[in-house]
Amino acid sequence: MNKEINKTTIVVLSGKGGTGKTTISNILIEKLQSKVFIDCDVDAPNLHLVQKTNVKPIERGFVGLPKYQIVQNLCINCGKCYSLCAYQAINKTNDTYTIDPYRCEGCSLCCVKCPADAIKQVEQIDGHTYIYNQQDKLFGTAQTNIGAGNSGKLVTEIRNQIRDENVKTEFEIIDGPPGIGCPVIASITNTNFALLVTEPSLSGLSDLKRIIQTALILKTIPVVIINRADLNIKLSAVIEKYLKDNGIIYLGKLPYDKNIIRKNNLEPYDEESIFFKKMNEIIKKLIELINKEKEI
Ligand code: SF4
Ligand code: SF4
Repeated sequence: MNKEINKTTIVVLSGKGGTGKTTISNILIEKLQSKVFIDCDVDAPNLHLVQKTNVKPIERGFVGLPKYQIVQNLCINCGKCYSLCAYQAINKTNDTYTIDPYRCEGCSLCCVKCPADAIKQVEQIDGHTYIYNQQDKLFGTAQTNIGAGNSGKLVTEIRNQIRDENVKTEFEIIDGPPGIGCPVIASITNTNFALLVTEPSLSGLSDLKRIIQTALILKTIPVVIINRADLNIKLSAVIEKYLKDNGIIYLGKLPYDKNIIRKNNLEPYDEESIFFKKMNEIIKKLIELINKEKEI
């Protein structure tokens, strides 16, 4: 447990896109009365669309890796940078050399080796962070610029900014990105539980196995729910068996409910629906698990 701030951090992940992470995150935020929540899907954030905030966010530019530019009137056209760059980020047009900012990885080799000191570091905004401070709730989100890298660094940046606000909460909820790459690793790090939302498809199971391993390596407890389980009962059973055979905590399954997306966007949820009854059971199990872990 995260003793120094006395909170439980739950990151919602799936290993793939489209399984319903944001819907589940949004429900958890409401049901657990989370006061601090973050959208770490910085390549395609959308928690702000369903978290109806009416305050203006604090917006900050995010600088990722340094970029480099050639100062043309200093360049002696020797071509050394062109032959050294391992990322083919330097273009040559009629003996004029320029750096493609979308390819440049900021390694600085060309700058160090240029005999004319013609290559200079430039700051480039790679994305933005947004913090919504609404009454007693703190919501952070971030967005990368098109073609910009460093999405893992941007996730760390928004999480650090939220941490520095020092708002007390029993539950911090993170809506995580798809995949198992840098932004996912930055989202899982220093969390207590990875709530993995999977779906009954072959790709869902394949990606679930990868994200379970990622969570275990990063020493976060993976717990799984199967969303839209009734769309493929056979595969849902296969997933359940896989979890049982591998000792992974299974919290339950949710039925497909076509009203969820519409209600998520436009209206309050239908608490009487089968989906919600199942969701409430899952949340009850999750809280029991959290309390049990706190006792250890
Ligand atoms: S190494 Fe420097 S001087 Fe040579 S082409 Fe590149 S920028 Fe110009
Ligand atoms: S900084 Fe590195 S990646 Fe960028 S242009 Fe120079 S050598 Fe290539």
